[in-house]
Amino acid sequence: MLADSRMTQIDRSAPVLVTGGAGFIASWIVRYLLEDGFVVRATVRNPTDEQRLTHLKELGQKYPGKLQLFAADLLQAGAFQEAMQGCQLVMHTASPFMITGIKDAQKQLVEPAVQGTREVLEEANRCVSVRRVVLTSSIVAIMGDGADAAQVDGGVFNETHWNFSSSLKRQPYAFSKKLAEEEAWKIARQQQRWDLVVVNPAFVLGPALSGRAESVSINFIRSMTNGEYRPGCPDLTMSIVDVRDVARAHILAGLIPSASGRHILAADTVPMIELARQLSAHYGRRFPLPTRVLPKFMLYLIGPFFGLSWDYISRNVGAPYSFDASYSKKDLGLEYRPIQQTLVDAVEQALSAGQV
Ligand code: NAP
Repeated sequence: MLADSRMTQIDRSAPVLVTGGAGFIASWIVRYLLEDGFVVRATVRNPTDEQRLTHLKELGQKYPGKLQLFAADLLQAGAFQEAMQGCQLVMHTASPFMITGIKDAQKQLVEPAVQGTREVLEEANRCVSVRRVVLTSSIVAIMGDGADAAQVDGGVFNETHWNFSSSLKRQPYAFSKKLAEEEAWKIARQQQRWDLVVVNPAFVLGPALSGRAESVSINFIRSMTNGEYRPGCPDLTMSIVDVRDVARAHILAGLIPSASGRHILAADTVPMIELARQLSAHYGRRFPLPTRVLPKFMLYLIGPFFGLSWDYISRNVGAPYSFDASYSKKDLGLEYRPIQQTLVDAVEQALSAGQV
């Protein structure tokens, strides 16, 4: 386990920096921090994009003087300098999250993920007030695909494991998250003033605070409910966690003085068809949900139309694995919502936003 034994006290009157503050996960972090009485500095790429920022502007009105927005791009040198001044706690969530439509993985994923992490942490090195950085990594920094699961005892991953299978060509998003987390640990270990606490969420689902519909997580709920998988689901294993639990985990990771190391955040690991079953149990036949698992040979035929390569199908379909999230419960005192609640709340929010 990557851990050190220091106790880091954060002054609750100091502002907290959240990078990528308008994102699906970060918006909940910002909201909970404001509810808990913190002053929040959120970075966004374009503070004048009213449509993408409506939910943050509303939070700003609800908590006058407590939320400040700063413009910052991960690829711009010195972008986080102004926003970080005086902060003791930094939450670095910003990183591109895309799994389809990738044309140049190095430019679209790896560079912003790794260079952005370097930019934020080197700014923490320069900014004398910083005491702790919480990094949003992912379980994909731990496991890339079924090839990793084959190397791990019983296919059960914990925080000691790292993704060895991904590359620019194979699961490039996973590759970008692994490289970014490795870079973060390297920079953190070269200094003593601040400590690094990492959270590694599973696939994050749940209600979105913003009306933004481009997030991978929101798209997944849309695909499930609009009939995209009606002919059947691939026999894929999915680890799920609620966005509200992930946001709470960031705050606990930031404020618990003894928190340390990596933390797998996962409520449950189930076959994809189980998600459809849980939604059917609640909604009956209201949505054209899948009712069966596609045989593997069918997937070889139609998988590429859904962005699943033959290579991916051969390594992952039917490959069982799971994640041991017990350290997050022990170190952060986390309790996870049941996944049915996560799914139903996600669908209800998407319905109210007109996305389903
Ligand atoms: P999201 O809504 O797409 O958020 C991504 C955030 O990254 C956005 O705020 C975006 O800023 C920011 N970003 C991307 N490229 C940037 C750049 N070049 N400069 C500055 N900001 C940039 O997705 P999310 O699910 O909340 O993801 C947040 C973090 O959680 C990411 O690090 C992701 O890898 C990680 N994660 C997500 C999941 C999941 O299932 N959702 C699971 C594990 C880990 P804009 O608002 O300006 O677009």
